[in-house]
Amino acid sequence: MNNYLTASTLYDYTQCPHKVWRDRFGPQAEKSQESNPFVELLWEKGVSHEKAVVSNLQLLDLSSTDKADQFHKTLEAMRNKVPLIYHGYLQYETYSGEPDLLRLESDGTYIPIDIKSGSGFEGTTEDSDENGKLKRHYALQIAHYCELIAKLGFGSKHRGIILDSKNEEVVYDLDLPQGVKNQMTWWRLYEQTRYEVSRLITNQIQNKPAYSSLCKLCPWYQSCKKWCVESKDPTMIAYLGRSGRDTLVESLDLKDAKDLCSIDVQELMYMKQKDKSFLPRIGEKQLTKFKFRAQINYELKTPQFKPFPPFPKVSHELFFDIEDDPTQEFVYLHGVYERTPERERFLDDFVAADNTREAEKEAWTKFIRYVQSLPKGDFCLYYYSKHERTTYRKMQEMYPDVIDINELETWFVPPIGIDLYFDYIFKYTEWPLPSYSLKEIAHYLNFNWRDKTPSGALSIQWFNEYLEDKDPVKLKRILEYNEDDCKATMVIKDYLDSKK
Ligand code: SF4
Repeated sequence: MNNYLTASTLYDYTQCPHKVWRDRFGPQAEKSQESNPFVELLWEKGVSHEKAVVSNLQLLDLSSTDKADQFHKTLEAMRNKVPLIYHGYLQYETYSGEPDLLRLESDGTYIPIDIKSGSGFEGTTEDSDENGKLKRHYALQIAHYCELIAKLGFGSKHRGIILDSKNEEVVYDLDLPQGVKNQMTWWRLYEQTRYEVSRLITNQIQNKPAYSSLCKLCPWYQSCKKWCVESKDPTMIAYLGRSGRDTLVESLDLKDAKDLCSIDVQELMYMKQKDKSFLPRIGEKQLTKFKFRAQINYELKTPQFKPFPPFPKVSHELFFDIEDDPTQEFVYLHGVYERTPERERFLDDFVAADNTREAEKEAWTKFIRYVQSLPKGDFCLYYYSKHERTTYRKMQEMYPDVIDINELETWFVPPIGIDLYFDYIFKYTEWPLPSYSLKEIAHYLNFNWRDKTPSGALSIQWFNEYLEDKDPVKLKRILEYNEDDCKATMVIKDYLDSKK
């Protein structure tokens, strides 16, 4: 790997600052060589979206030019004031970048444009018209291209464009502050980030892995996890995270997570009162929780429970989990493991036969009618976390004739709907685990998925493959994976029930 600072180095940094260092100086033998199929799928979808967008534009296409020529051809085109350049290659000293488009402005300078298949703003959906905040990783990438354009003498603006999924231009004005509370401009953020990244890629500074949910998609997953476990890194304490770890290590001079077991919270709060810069952004409640979780991880080594409400006594218990593809905003499966006094069964009927809106609606309607056919007041839907509810609200907006929103809402609140994660696990329990995800807890309770590499991301990939050839073996794999997710929810519910 070379030491050029590119837009993707900046992107990596926003996802995980450690990856920037580890890619260059980490133990290369421990890096997985297998490409992650879901990451590939996202990449392929991004590429085909980009191709579709540019197919209608008049431009100079340098995308298949040999790298050695690409830079010279880009410079030549910019000197000749070519209006639109596709995949120009910019390079200056140790910086390089390849914006999707370079567009000539009326004043003779160039601005960068990147084509994205998602929203141009943070926290907005494809269907939302509401303007949100600029995306940090987009802002850093646009800033990087602006800097290269300036260094090469073709402009001086701190401004670029994101062409979003709706083909609308979102202006990234980098001289604006990042927000009302954070008055630092996007450009200043870029300068700071670029400085940090430059030092990481030249090994002038090093940083540590931090165990997080993103790690599972990363080729360093096994390597970093091993490091975190062996060195008892504080990020192995559930929900402490990278910045919590860095604060605690710096303020308390922690050697490892085990040291947290013996901290004196009252004493530390007293110190914090006297010195406001001590333990920034960590209060007494959080510190007490982290200390307790450290004790569970390294001393008690068993789950702990607060008194929790009983589960509803009903004739039909439904353990429910959906599978959807966020790259297409498409729900392809509503899986239910049904338990009654007479029997247990997995219902595999509620699956979209292809990726059309008609097929999606049909599968959802079948599922809704099934739930509506159950004895009123005598069933309970168990699900894990908020994804199902959020997705169903969107589906109700798309297909309002399938179910009334008021009825649907009742399915997601007790006593009809129980969010096992937020209503029970998060509120009343603590576990000797780095996260309280469905898989982490069910594995801890000795539940095993039939698939050797179970993941929602892989299910999406299998579904995309299934769409191509309709191979029933692929569909079976998706259904089995989903059934096991539903059963895992049941295993956790039953375990909690046994602790009442
Ligand atoms: S596994 Fe996690 S900590 Fe390690 S480089 Fe990847 S994202 Fe960062």
